[in-house]
Amino acid sequence: MTATPATAAEMYELIRELYPICRSITGDGVRETLRILTRYVPLEIHEVPSGTPVFDWNVPREWNLRAAWIASCDGRRVVDTRDSNLHVVSYSSPVRRRVALSELREHLHALPDHPDWIPYRTSYYTESWGFCVTQKQLASLTDPEYEVCIDATLAPGSLSYGEYLLRGRSEREILISVHVCHPSLCNDNLSGIAVSALLARRLREREREYSYRFLYVPGTIGSLTWLSRNTAGVSRIAHGLTLVCLGDGSPFTYKRTLAGGAEVDRAAALALRESGFAHELIDYFPFGYDERQYNSPGFRLAVGSLMRARHGQFPEYHSSADDLDFVTAKSLQESLDVCGSILEVLDGNRVYRSTSPFGEPQLGRRGIYRGLGGEPDLADLQLAMLWLLTLCDGSQSLLDVAERSGLHFVLVQRAADQLVTHGLLEAARCAYS
Ligand code: ZN
Repeated sequence: MTATPATAAEMYELIRELYPICRSITGDGVRETLRILTRYVPLEIHEVPSGTPVFDWNVPREWNLRAAWIASCDGRRVVDTRDSNLHVVSYSSPVRRRVALSELREHLHALPDHPDWIPYRTSYYTESWGFCVTQKQLASLTDPEYEVCIDATLAPGSLSYGEYLLRGRSEREILISVHVCHPSLCNDNLSGIAVSALLARRLREREREYSYRFLYVPGTIGSLTWLSRNTAGVSRIAHGLTLVCLGDGSPFTYKRTLAGGAEVDRAAALALRESGFAHELIDYFPFGYDERQYNSPGFRLAVGSLMRARHGQFPEYHSSADDLDFVTAKSLQESLDVCGSILEVLDGNRVYRSTSPFGEPQLGRRGIYRGLGGEPDLADLQLAMLWLLTLCDGSQSLLDVAERSGLHFVLVQRAADQLVTHGLLEAARCAYS
């Protein structure tokens, strides 16, 4: 299941389309994003009213921005969100007044180490206003006072999130969660959106054991809101992934679930090993994306995180340099393939038992090898069969066999199918966990 260049181009085009939209944790930017996504994923869009209690939080007010600018004494707009929506601190309170330069400076954010980049800042849970500027813009502000305008509404409304349940044979679910609250930032959030959208479309076209639940939620408050509205259904989630930062050229990083050693952790490790791409497996830490909510004590869902460049650890992170040049169709394609492979392992994992466990069964007599004459990887396939007949005592899964043998999961799967056909293996349990 390899992504085609056309799929890769489609992901990139989706990012390009979503890039200019001014998203935040609430508001029309998220709605517009979800609406565009419905072309790829038949999302249900939920609206949860401001003020709704969500565990220890409340759904915040809705923020919508019309314009934000700073004008000099002669009326020239020296900073304007028409140039970049990163120029306004996301979720800023409305303001329109003249301010002394000294006061204005307290509301400005810049990146001295990267004088041409605009930082991305938010003020979600403390009421304030501010602008993000390049260091060069900051240095050029020399008038004694400026006029500032943040023409925004911060008012009761709702929080929007998108949800899509793709049913499989089982009610057990695999959760794919993506945050959708960042404005014009490509790797940190648009790449995850694009990869998951095409992943959903790809999964729709094939047989599925698991059901797949895709969530497009504003970071933290969105996943908390979904969890609070679905506490009863959470137990159906067997495995999950948050998908973030998947469009840059860095090696892959897989962040394990809190428990570590979960089936999704092992599936990710195996898929990355088989992919041949450079990668690193890292342990859970309580910082990052929505895996923090899913792994919290009340839920303890086995949700890991797949990314390339790591949250907070690449220079372009949360800045205007995380733009359309920072992500590539090729990286997105590789990421989609790795995601697809992880899900193939989880979806295809089975536990078998040998029906002929007393010594090795006589394979030649059954004509198994003769039937495989056309197989290009006959030797590996035979080896996989021997591993299966050795390990399958009703306690070992195909994932165990692939890990132990070093053979590719799909090859082990194919060998198992042959042995089932010849009556040498029988299903012991449907799925692993
Ligand atoms: Zn972020």
